[in-house]
Amino acid sequence: MSVSSEWIRCYIGLGSNLENPVTQVATALLELERLPQCRNLEHSSLYRSDPVGPPGQPDYINAVASIETTLEPLALLDALQSIEQEHQRVRIQHWGPRTLDLDLLLYGDQTIECERLTVPHAFLRERNFVLYPLAELSPELSLPDGRSMDALLKACAIDTLERI
Ligand code: ATP
Ligand code: CA
Ligand code: CA
Repeated sequence: MSVSSEWIRCYIGLGSNLENPVTQVATALLELERLPQCRNLEHSSLYRSDPVGPPGQPDYINAVASIETTLEPLALLDALQSIEQEHQRVRIQHWGPRTLDLDLLLYGDQTIECERLTVPHAFLRERNFVLYPLAELSPELSLPDGRSMDALLKACAIDTLERI
């Protein structure tokens, strides 16, 4: 596994809308905490959000976690995808219902563009179910482009997002 000598703080978005979503997210937080080369997990409250994508899906439960890691970005993505697999995630439909989705939102202050990975996450700035938990967890955070959480929240309505 690819590791560096430096601890980098990363932010991970969690989402689930199948098979007892609250338990899926709570279990995933424990699994993130136990990943190799990772320490100091912190997380937001859980939130309920309306589904994005195909209509007729159940509501989502979302949260944001942060960890410090020495894993390189793609090794961390591999680790996140193995946790999704442990939750029997099946990809049938784009943006379709899922037991667990783990998105790498931020990796330190790095900007990454490669075939498997875009960081900051491509839709980070427009998703209330990502921004509100992220701001709860780290209100002083700013993106690699310098934008503050306050500025991002002002541009993204909370709508029906609910902290639970
Ligand atoms: P969205 O990207 O809109 O949140 P999604 O989470 O439903 O959609 P997935 O099917 O989970 O999309 O992932 C598709 C691919 O996205 C993954 O195989 C992965 O290689 C790629 N990807 C690119 N950037 C990221 C990122 N920051 N975090 C997680 N996956 C990413
Ligand atoms: Ca996602
Ligand atoms: Ca994903």
